[in-house]
Amino acid sequence: MENAKRIFDAFLCAKGLRHTDQRDIILDAFLGMEGHFSAEEIYRIVSEKNPEIGYATVYRTIKLLCDAGIARGIYFDDGRMRYEHKYGHGHHDHLVCIRCGKVIEIFDPQIEKAQDRLAKEKGFVPIRHQLNIFGVCKECRKRNK
Ligand SMILES: [Zn+2]
Ligand SMILES: [Zn+2]
Repeated sequence: MENAKRIFDAFLCAKGLRHTDQRDIILDAFLGMEGHFSAEEIYRIVSEKNPEIGYATVYRTIKLLCDAGIARGIYFDDGRMRYEHKYGHGHHDHLVCIRCGKVIEIFDPQIEKAQDRLAKEKGFVPIRHQLNIFGVCKECRKRNK
């Protein structure tokens, strides 16, 4: 957590951006949230204690956190990006429930390897990827019976 702050400081400095209290508060709030959140959800948490911070500031700061490698944005098919911790978290992919919005993290070295192999066969050098599987979670399936 302290490291993430130092990385963000160095990033702002390198970009010639000012280190502001508001950015600090947003970073703290984000680091304190475990999971996958939309910018609106992060804004709601931040503004509960800090109503002076506007949505635009939260949104811009999240973008900076992504650029700094602290956050990662995940594209979900409801059109809203979700953000999760990237720094200190290993690569993983996601199962996304289209009913309740739950996100389950998955990782399988064989799938990772297969993706690399498929890319290589096409002469393609992969830099990053996202694998999101959309469906209905166990709890939602039970609820529907
Ligand atoms: Zn569900
Ligand atoms: Zn995740």
